Amino acid sequence: MPKMDVGPLLGGPEESMTQRSGPACKLCGKQTQYRFSNLLLGTIEAAYFKCESCDLLQSDHLDHVNSEDMSGLYAKGEIHDTGAAWRQICICTRLEQLTKLGVIRGMAKRPIRALDFGAGSGFCVSFMRHRLQWEAYGFDLFSDPTFAKNNIFNSWSDVQARAPFDVIIASEVFEHFSRTLDGNRKAI
Ligand SMILES: [Zn+2]
Repeated sequence: MPKMDVGPLLGGPEESMTQRSGPACKLCGKQTQYRFSNLLLGTIEAAYFKCESCDLLQSDHLDHVNSEDMSGLYAKGEIHDTGAAWRQICICTRLEQLTKLGVIRGMAKRPIRALDFGAGSGFCVSFMRHRLQWEAYGFDLFSDPTFAKNNIFNSWSDVQARAPFDVIIASEVFEHFSRTLDGNRKAI
């Protein structure tokens, strides 16, 4: 299958084909190349880079925002991010399919225990609990969840108290890290 150029799909302006190196990939630490820029929330000029090795599309415009300001930005993002609901549905549908196919299986004699690392609105946690009958929890440092509020934590010790997990999902998370995965591995 040919590789898809995601720039135009995300509404990015046309860019010249000139290669420009970006920062180290947040997932694998390899070289990235500049792909396109976009104006976010009407104020943030965001440049996007794609990894030459693992293809992760990522940006660095939030890397130096402090945690208090980050919560405000995520709240604004929920208003402006018109594709968020569709992406959440896609994730939940995939989880349901993988469960029906037996790819995702829990331990015997108890429900599947799952963690949504970077739970955002809590939609996936709610879906896993009520549609899939899983014992699902979420972790998010910056969002104020709309769904499954009582099962989404901003304290890692609260998450650890419910471990181990059969399934951990982390959607739209790695591209927001300010360090490479190696730097975050211990935390995860
Ligand atoms: Zn990479």
